[in-house]
Amino acid sequence: MELLNIKNLDLAGKKVFIRCDFNVPMDEFGNISDDRRIRSAISTINYCLDQNCAVILASHLGRPEGQVVSKYSLIPVARRMHHLLKREVELSADVVGDDALDKASKLKSGEVLMLENLRYEAGETKNDKELSKKLASMADFYINDAFGVSHRAHASVEGITHFFDDKHKAAGFLLQKEIDFLGKIIQNPVRPFAAIVGGSKVSGKLEALINLLPRVDKVLIGGGMAFTFLKKLGYDIGASLVEDDLLEEAGRIMEEAKKLGVKFYLPVDVVAADKFSEDAISRIVSYQEIPSGWMGLDIGPATVRLYGEVLSDVQTVLWNGPMGVYEMDKFARGSNKIAHFVADSYATTIVGGGDTADLVQRIGVDDEMTFISTGGGASLELLEGKILPGVASLIRKED
Ligand code: AMP
Repeated sequence: MELLNIKNLDLAGKKVFIRCDFNVPMDEFGNISDDRRIRSAISTINYCLDQNCAVILASHLGRPEGQVVSKYSLIPVARRMHHLLKREVELSADVVGDDALDKASKLKSGEVLMLENLRYEAGETKNDKELSKKLASMADFYINDAFGVSHRAHASVEGITHFFDDKHKAAGFLLQKEIDFLGKIIQNPVRPFAAIVGGSKVSGKLEALINLLPRVDKVLIGGGMAFTFLKKLGYDIGASLVEDDLLEEAGRIMEEAKKLGVKFYLPVDVVAADKFSEDAISRIVSYQEIPSGWMGLDIGPATVRLYGEVLSDVQTVLWNGPMGVYEMDKFARGSNKIAHFVADSYATTIVGGGDTADLVQRIGVDDEMTFISTGGGASLELLEGKILPGVASLIRKED
């Protein structure tokens, strides 16, 4: 799959609309706690500025649900962008109101305008055609550099692409990089290829698991989702997280893995706790001995050791989802240990999903990973073999 390339556009001196993903985490005082997503957009923005373009930046932040909610204003993002670009970044007071349209029409070459939070407009998440049209009317070119929302058919992501022909739209460098990298891995991984899949639920990753099976050599399960598989195998999982309606599906996945010769690993021990809390009483127990009423909140040391062995010969590792409730120190050990195994390996290592990216960053091994995807849901949908709605009309047609 080849995407329309920004380098093939005749951008010189023109007005460019860049859809970015500035949906960054903030603390309770409105300070940006991780600006990776803002920094990731810089190369596309600088490329356009080097072409003497007038640049309009647009993004959502949080879920204001069609209302103007001041805590979701892009003011801190515009300020950070100003520091990073070392040039003025003007923020419009609205998205497609008088102020935004006026500022966009007066924008000159080399200037940068940021629109207020796209989700202040209810039409954004509804892929409203009128909103797409108004956004498109601001610029000559459209660039999508927002991989993290490309799995959403939203007005600034999908609808807007229909207002530009193939000579006036393209993928930005970040989107291109994500699609290239993840696409290559899924098409032609260096083997053995292991997928480590964790997180809370099977349901969120069911399709991804099914789709990954024919492509991988090993699957290592962790996190809350492990218990649905363990229950299906007939074990008593106490009060651990479980999705009873997916027991059959879990059985089918394990059957399919066996049929395909894929090694499918489940935790052999867990850190069990009497409640879901940092001050819970906890104990390391085998998966067959979870006390009644207790819940497994992390993988145990034997599982860490086993998974370390299993990962020792792999050449490609894809990791999506923590091994336990890593937000609580008490249940973060399993995830931390696995993060170190992955970081220290000589394999190509890909981390997908906001939680997993957050986790490797917290313990400082993010630089050791080959690739950290900026999109959680988007990277999974891509790995499921889906064509993302925001990417569909940026695919280059055969000449
Ligand atoms: P997901 O959004 O599905 O990737 O899940 C991430 C969340 O799963 C994190 O917030 C973890 O705290 C949570 N999680 C991981 N392991 C468990 C577990 N054993 N029980 C409950 N929640 C878990």
